[in-house]
Amino acid sequence: MVDLRDVHKSFGSLEVLRGVDLRVARGEVTVILGPSGSGKSTLLRTVNHLEKVDSGSVRVDGELVGYRQSGDKLYELREREILRQRTRIGFVFQSFNLFPHLTALENVVEAPVSAQRRPKEEVRELALRLLDRVGLSEKKDAYPRQLSGGQQQRVAIARALALEPKVILFDEPTSALDPELVGEVLDVVKDLARSGTTMIVVTHEIGFAREVADTVVFMDDGRVVEQGPPSQVLDSPRHERTRAFLSKVL
Ligand code: ATP
Ligand code: MG
Repeated sequence: MVDLRDVHKSFGSLEVLRGVDLRVARGEVTVILGPSGSGKSTLLRTVNHLEKVDSGSVRVDGELVGYRQSGDKLYELREREILRQRTRIGFVFQSFNLFPHLTALENVVEAPVSAQRRPKEEVRELALRLLDRVGLSEKKDAYPRQLSGGQQQRVAIARALALEPKVILFDEPTSALDPELVGEVLDVVKDLARSGTTMIVVTHEIGFAREVADTVVFMDDGRVVEQGPPSQVLDSPRHERTRAFLSKVL
């Protein structure tokens, strides 16, 4: 479903991604771990072309992201095409990024109607179901400032789901939350995992990784150092750098 090959990305002279390969099969959950500055967010952002890669390729569901190929040449897609691709690649950020002037329900309804031009009544029905799924039916008319961080993040997840994405990318979805609110958001993400949503999750929540991930990827310094099932990467890491990192976060 997601296929990154030899992805390189620099900011000026700083090489942040140094040849990353990553494959995520349909229905699988991949958790990315790694120290601050190792390139995790940059990597996620290349998946929906929020960052352009310098070389290598990104495909989602077989489709090249951000470019179209003609012969052996690549041409960047027009803005409108990029936006169309992005609507099918959900992104949930650390800072919930809800529209402050819209209610929870309106936040969920907005993009499918404006970006996917789906009928408003149908989207509203779907949005109500999704708010129910994340446990927020009774908050549908609340504005973001009237919601806790955990509730806002659950609205953000419902909003991502409303676009019926092929994959959802989570960038530290719980790290801005008070500790007592982390569980309610992780429970929603776990529920998505169980129902077969393809996801890439950057997080420091090792317990979550152990429970939910099909694959754990450890990144350091712009490279994938190792990857494998959680039991292997978390319990018997092969690389010293992985061991050192885990000993700090566990
Ligand atoms: P954290 O765990 O702190 O979120 P991360 O692994 O997500 O870290 P990135 O945000 O991907 O790391 O950043 C990797 C490196 O790239 C860092 O050194 C960062 O300062 C740099 N970087 C990221 N975005 C930009 C940018 N737009 N311009 C310049 N440098 C950037
Ligand atoms: Mg980051």
